[in-house]
Amino acid sequence: MSAPGMLFAEGTKALVTGASRGIGAAIAMALAEHGCDIALNYRANSAKAEEVAERIRGLGREALLAPADVADEAQVTAMYKKLRVEWGGVSVAVLNSGITADGHLAAMSSAKWQEVISTNLTGAFLTARGATKQMHTTGGSIVLIASTSGIAGRAGQANYAASKGGAISLAKSLAYEGAPRGIRVNVVAPGFIDTDMVKKVPPAQMKGALQAIPLGRMGTPEEVAQAAVFLASPAASYITAKVLTVDGGMLYS
Ligand code: NAP
Repeated sequence: MSAPGMLFAEGTKALVTGASRGIGAAIAMALAEHGCDIALNYRANSAKAEEVAERIRGLGREALLAPADVADEAQVTAMYKKLRVEWGGVSVAVLNSGITADGHLAAMSSAKWQEVISTNLTGAFLTARGATKQMHTTGGSIVLIASTSGIAGRAGQANYAASKGGAISLAKSLAYEGAPRGIRVNVVAPGFIDTDMVKKVPPAQMKGALQAIPLGRMGTPEEVAQAAVFLASPAASYITAKVLTVDGGMLYS
């Protein structure tokens, strides 16, 4: 049973990947506010991850650091082993880690292509596989953070759009495989959200992008977190294999 005002049963064990900053940190905080204990994955930034962990502990919830490069199979396997040993596994996983390395396709190096595909798509595969295994007998809920670029494409983001489009298809396929075992899988596709990631977008391009957003502004990490928490929670118990765009109305589909 969840406490009044909380979406999860108290002490629900949740993993958030890429939780050291940006959208992942906001999702970790919002899940903790709704009763979850949080395993915080990140690649390198332990100081930031520890800051988020301290804020979670301040809410009276458990926080566990779970560093791993999501593109590295051995590291992901070790991370899930740690979660099983410490907590007996997780029943919620928000797979949020991701990178960009933008550039037009004609001039894109194979390294730049592979870096993004490895982190965003292979990373989604490895972390979703690990989560599903932990939910095999108990059921659970997975939310993958993709992007509007993965639905509509975007000039200068062929690698990123391909990785996120692939991740959306992966999530839908896994939703159909997981449904008989009580595992729901959904996707949140953010538009432009105010984090370190968009600081890399050139100002002129950003100005054009903002003009294409009906709500006229970037979103906040907290606004994405609300959607992810809803989809991950029992409040969305009859929703699976769906993509929810959080983009200020940018995509018209
Ligand atoms: P961000 O501020 O750059 O944070 C990225 C997070 O991912 C950090 O916690 C980082 O860890 C982690 N990470 C990166 N590579 C990793 C790897 N190989 N293994 C494990 N963790 C890794 O990004 P954000 O804007 O919050 O984006 C979060 C997600 O939302 C991404 O999947 C992104 O594609 C998606 N998204 C963002 C926007 C946007 O406008 N911001 C729009 C659409 C979709 P370290 O701190 O250790 O580096």
